[in-house]
Amino acid sequence: MDVDRELGELLEALWTLEEQGEAFPQDVRRIAHAEVTDRLLERALREELIVRQPSGHLRLTSKGRAVATPIIRRHRLAERLMCDVLGVDVEETEAAACEFEHFLAEGITRAICTLLGHPRVCPHGRPIPEGECCRQAEEQVKAILVPCDRLALGETARVAYVSTRSHARLLRLSALGIMPGVSVQLVQRWPSIVLRCEETEIALDEEIARQIYVWRVRPEEGAEAGEASDERWTST
Ligand SMILES: [Zn+2]
Ligand SMILES: [Zn+2]
Ligand SMILES: [Zn+2]
Repeated sequence: MDVDRELGELLEALWTLEEQGEAFPQDVRRIAHAEVTDRLLERALREELIVRQPSGHLRLTSKGRAVATPIIRRHRLAERLMCDVLGVDVEETEAAACEFEHFLAEGITRAICTLLGHPRVCPHGRPIPEGECCRQAEEQVKAILVPCDRLALGETARVAYVSTRSHARLLRLSALGIMPGVSVQLVQRWPSIVLRCEETEIALDEEIARQIYVWRVRPEEGAEAGEASDERWTST
């Protein structure tokens, strides 16, 4: 079912409130990112997306949940993308995430989810509804995109991005050769984290190492390649 923006925002607000408890129409009006008119509420009731309980509070129906699920998923994945990859403050992500949730195509949503390693919660700690990609990836125990301090000793991976807002830090790291696309190997974990990049060994503070996100080598490139994993990794 196609929902327009107002209806989508109404369902989103109700979903978020229900995670914390009961939701009355005035609560929905307060937090929704669209004007919730009586007409809009009536429409949602008529289309059986929500129901009014005898006590007066509103609930999503199973149909309403089904319609809202992809909206919530896009919103929360967009928040993660902005926080983790773009380094935007959580408080600043809200309005932009509300834009994303209305136009992100399914293929792009899936790509973002995969890029982020199928995250389970948004930066506010609220659950992100699972997508098909998450279910397929479940057997894949470790996220493929991880901060470099989570690599195993000796493991080689490719730098994806550096999650920092500090331009100076980015410049310093790229001067050392750490930039998207290059191959790095974790050669020491303690007392400091040491990455080998080309022929250079680079010692890093833990805090900085945690900002360097790397792609792990994909399973089918390893010894136990199988058809199932091929299928998994080629799906976009
Ligand atoms: Zn929204
Ligand atoms: Zn959130
Ligand atoms: Zn996923």
